[in-house]
Amino acid sequence: MTAVQEQTKTVVSKRLEGKVALVTGGSRGIGAAIALKLAAEGASVVLSYASNKGAAEKVVAEIAALGLKAVAVKANVTSAQDSATVVAEVAKAFGNAKIDILVNNAGVFEMGPIDAIDAEQFDRLFDVNVKGVVATTVAALPQMNDGGRIINISSGAADATMAGASLYSATKSALDTLSRIWAQDLGKRRITVNSVSPGVTVTDMFKAGIPEEGHQYMIDKTALGRLGQPEDIADVVAFIASDEARWITGQVINVDGGIVI
Ligand code: NAP
Repeated sequence: MTAVQEQTKTVVSKRLEGKVALVTGGSRGIGAAIALKLAAEGASVVLSYASNKGAAEKVVAEIAALGLKAVAVKANVTSAQDSATVVAEVAKAFGNAKIDILVNNAGVFEMGPIDAIDAEQFDRLFDVNVKGVVATTVAALPQMNDGGRIINISSGAADATMAGASLYSATKSALDTLSRIWAQDLGKRRITVNSVSPGVTVTDMFKAGIPEEGHQYMIDKTALGRLGQPEDIADVVAFIASDEARWITGQVINVDGGIVI
């Protein structure tokens, strides 16, 4: 095969054929788009959810309709027991397979002005957005193939210094630090670790968190002049998961149409 033929083959073949992915919070929004995209690129996918079984099963059915494989598992990322269960489910669902791609996507958002912050809000945000990522990653690592990918879904909020969002932003800054240091820790296993940081993206989280009168302000602040869609994020996650991104690790990749420049 000539070099050009080899290149063409790479372009048309599915980039994640034979890979196994675990996506936390894959029932809705960005996680659902990531699960769909990774499957469309050839990966077998286990997606977890907190409570929304119907939405999770809908994503599985959409993937199955494409003739591809996915399984949904109810697993709260804050529970070490649930994290172990979801990791075990990967091997069960896909013939003892190990994980190639872990996407730590599950997250929660709350605004909290400084004078309204309390310990409960701190725990709600840090338990899911930080402790949940640690619990899932620690459970997954022994079951991960060398050369794998860990992709942490962070947020432009880590850099955007958005007034009233200090705790949420701090959880995502913590996540970016984990990505950078885990990249060093896991380099010897050729596992890359990166943060993918969405800007404002139209999901249930966005609709619940940002009042409609604020949407135009977000659009005006975005260089490309529109709100993000979950697929805008999923396409970049699929690239980072692919062999084409093998030399990228320890990075925070903003995927935001230029809202944080
Ligand atoms: P979303 O629409 O609210 O969906 C959240 C997903 O996470 C759902 O699948 C939900 O499951 C799951 N989840 C929540 N808590 C969980 C828990 N304790 N255990 C397991 N799963 C849990 O959110 P999204 O907008 O797609 O956000 C996804 C990620 O992107 C988050 O990390 C978020 O911080 C980040 N992000 C979002 C935006 C944005 O503008 N949307 C911007 C920057 C970063 P159920 O369906 O069962 O509830």
